[in-house]
Amino acid sequence: MASKLSFPFLCIFFFSLFAIPVFSHLHPNGLLDNNTSQSPFEFLKNMQGCHKGDKVKGIHDLKFYLSHFGYLNYQSNPNVTNPKEDNFDDELEEAIKSYQVFYHLNATGTLDAPTVSKMVKPRCGFPDKETHQHSDKTLHTVSHYQFFSGRPKWPKDKRHLTFAFGSRFPTRFMPHVVRAFSKWATASQYFTFSRAITYQSADIKISFARGSHGDGSPFDGRGGVLAHAFAPTDGRFHYDADESWVIGAVPNAYDIETLALHEIGHLLGLAHSEVENAIMWPTFTSGVTKGLNFDDVQGIRALYGN
Ligand SMILES: [Zn+2]
Ligand SMILES: [Zn+2]
Repeated sequence: MASKLSFPFLCIFFFSLFAIPVFSHLHPNGLLDNNTSQSPFEFLKNMQGCHKGDKVKGIHDLKFYLSHFGYLNYQSNPNVTNPKEDNFDDELEEAIKSYQVFYHLNATGTLDAPTVSKMVKPRCGFPDKETHQHSDKTLHTVSHYQFFSGRPKWPKDKRHLTFAFGSRFPTRFMPHVVRAFSKWATASQYFTFSRAITYQSADIKISFARGSHGDGSPFDGRGGVLAHAFAPTDGRFHYDADESWVIGAVPNAYDIETLALHEIGHLLGLAHSEVENAIMWPTFTSGVTKGLNFDDVQGIRALYGN
């Protein structure tokens, strides 16, 4: 009996010796690649074709997705839209239309194929819209860069910003984040950036994190959300450590500098742009690098008035 018990115990013991240190090690360079793991947005593919009046398992996840990215607000009318129910209601149809308008799709209000193919793309974790936002959309004749609600920005006397990397930030990625800062400095003609002396004193703090990491916006494993940053003057910028991060255009991986350019845009006060070529467009394609666009430069200059 004892020998029967000891075999699985030993297996677990040896497994824990070798496996746990590997799985628990924070390694943001793709060593934990697992191509069989599904993107957290994958469930949307099973729901293609859904429309108003449907009651299909997973609709509450779709409501959560749209709520997370700023298209649906349960709190505004909890009696009408119950996030826990799988009912495709009027509010969900409106939210999908709003999503479709932002992404230049036909505003059908149904979960059609073009909409699903946009929704499953890996993206920045920052919402595209802020709920309760009083949009001044009617003032705009063309879609372009956006600011956060209330236009938070760095104060006038704060044109030089310092940044610092978290203790486990891979050294080889640092020059590429620094390059993203200098691109914004050149383009904005307003800000200059330098490395802070200490992490605590930095205006901008950059680190890798995985899962729930204490800021109320948990990462979601491989795929889905890639990174996020906060509006001025918060300064926090997090990369999802569960993604494959690389320097440059490498298949099935994300360029550290491309995401840095995007998240620095948020740190300076830009929200998501409706211009697909802008760095502030919310979604990203693996194996592709991207630079600043005229729309991004116009946005930052409009915000800081030079
Ligand atoms: Zn973003
Ligand atoms: Zn975070």
